[in-house]
Amino acid sequence: MLYHPNLYDRTQPIGSFWETTVPPLFPTDITPLSQDTTCDVAIIGGGITGLNAALYLAKEAGIQAHVLDAGTVAWGASGRNGGFVCVGATWLTNHQLLQKFGGEEVRRFAQQQRQGTELVRHIAASEGIEIDAQGTGEILVAHRPSRWQALEEEYDFLTEIAEYPCTLWSQKDLAEHAYHSPEAHGALHIGVGFGLNPLKYSRGLANAVRQAGLTLSLQSPVEAWEKSGHWHLLQTPGGTLRAKQVILATNGYSDEQLVPSLRGTLLPVISNIITTRPLTAAELAAQGWKTETPLYDTRLLLFYFRLLKDGRFLLGSRGGTRGDQQERDRQRSWMIRRLGEMFPAWKDVEVTHYWNGLVCGSTTLTPHVGQFSADPSVFYSLAYHGNGVATGTWCGRAIAQILAGRKRVEDLPALLRQPLKRFPLARLRRWYLRSAYAFFGLQDQQ
Ligand SMILES: Cc1cc2nc3c(=O)[nH]c(=O)nc-3n(C[C@H](O)[C@H](O)[C@H](O)COP(=O)(O)OP(=O)(O)OC[C@H]3O[C@@H](n4cnc5c(N)ncnc54)[C@H](O)[C@@H]3O)c2cc1C
Repeated sequence: MLYHPNLYDRTQPIGSFWETTVPPLFPTDITPLSQDTTCDVAIIGGGITGLNAALYLAKEAGIQAHVLDAGTVAWGASGRNGGFVCVGATWLTNHQLLQKFGGEEVRRFAQQQRQGTELVRHIAASEGIEIDAQGTGEILVAHRPSRWQALEEEYDFLTEIAEYPCTLWSQKDLAEHAYHSPEAHGALHIGVGFGLNPLKYSRGLANAVRQAGLTLSLQSPVEAWEKSGHWHLLQTPGGTLRAKQVILATNGYSDEQLVPSLRGTLLPVISNIITTRPLTAAELAAQGWKTETPLYDTRLLLFYFRLLKDGRFLLGSRGGTRGDQQERDRQRSWMIRRLGEMFPAWKDVEVTHYWNGLVCGSTTLTPHVGQFSADPSVFYSLAYHGNGVATGTWCGRAIAQILAGRKRVEDLPALLRQPLKRFPLARLRRWYLRSAYAFFGLQDQQ
């Protein structure tokens, strides 16, 4: 594992605000695998990707899958993210995207991304999941006056290539529609996406999976993986799951020792979130706050933020390269300070929750959906580059469609099916990240 063991410790509480919005799990909800079992398809990872794959297999392909997670439902990033149902899922710049893939493929990817956001809403409605949907689209805020040009370029790209409905807002427009701040100098409203409660969404998916008759074994880490003839043998502390095919849906929590084909290919990155106590109407007015639409800013080391249903404010940011307690404490204090600088009226407002987790990047800076060439009976879908609520939903379903023979990998947008590549000197990945953060920090000040 790349980071401190704290980040992977399933016995410690996550401490997220989302956990306070759902009933606690009963011991009967957490049923580890307790005997050797056989199934058609094993899914490792009970987050948005794995659960959507399972749901498709059960409901639309009549295939019995068995989901294993080392933690509880959506213990990984899925249950603790910022709840932005948004487009993105790549860290390539627009220019790099066009150069590498050409306009047509980039448009296909953009349309897939949009469909991902719509699919989340559709699944929630059809499965009767209350997700606390909020806002319309997403708002990209210029954190300095010099970033106005970047907004204009993004506007051109998103309207002409992606074909998304977008509107540019001057600083005055932004104050009229959303808020004012010393670090807000105009914005781009992107008319795609919304916000949700990610734990309610994930728990709802897990219930739907169970109602569809599938088994979800929690607290069942796959500790060893062998092949015997055509059978995969996934060993957990309580028993071995025998399956003909496996879907790997472990994203930033993938164990590279367990899966040699993934070794050195992924870049898990720490993302941190704080939430305040519910803000009063007067406090919101003091910052001119009027929107429930999720926002992020033009920094390379971006902040993402939104007002939650009960009036709490959520602020998120990537950062940290160790993951130990000292770094957590430092990150929390820094984010509280930055909250007060970005939103001076809330400088002394109590912060009730801090938590962090791993998003997943990769060498190619694009997601990866496909089958391992070394063993095509293993399917994978991961590396959404911090945008996995919509992309994990769509790709989880897509990988299940591929497994069921209803879609081919070649049918996916090229951006989603790049071969996995190893980082050169992969053991230095945290150092690469440290250098990137230092560079991004300097760029963000210009
Ligand atoms: C703090 C934070 C904020 C984020 N904000 C957003 C956001 O606002 N919008 C957005 O779109 N995306 C966001 N993301 C990213 C998004 O949450 C992820 O891309 C998405 O949840 C990935 O889903 P997944 O199901 O593929 O993986 P995960 O949800 O990470 O699930 C992987 C699961 O695999 C399990 N696992 C791993 N190894 C094993 C094993 N050996 N045996 C059994 N189980 C195993 C883990 O326990 C884990 O539960 C954020 C992520 C973080 C951490």
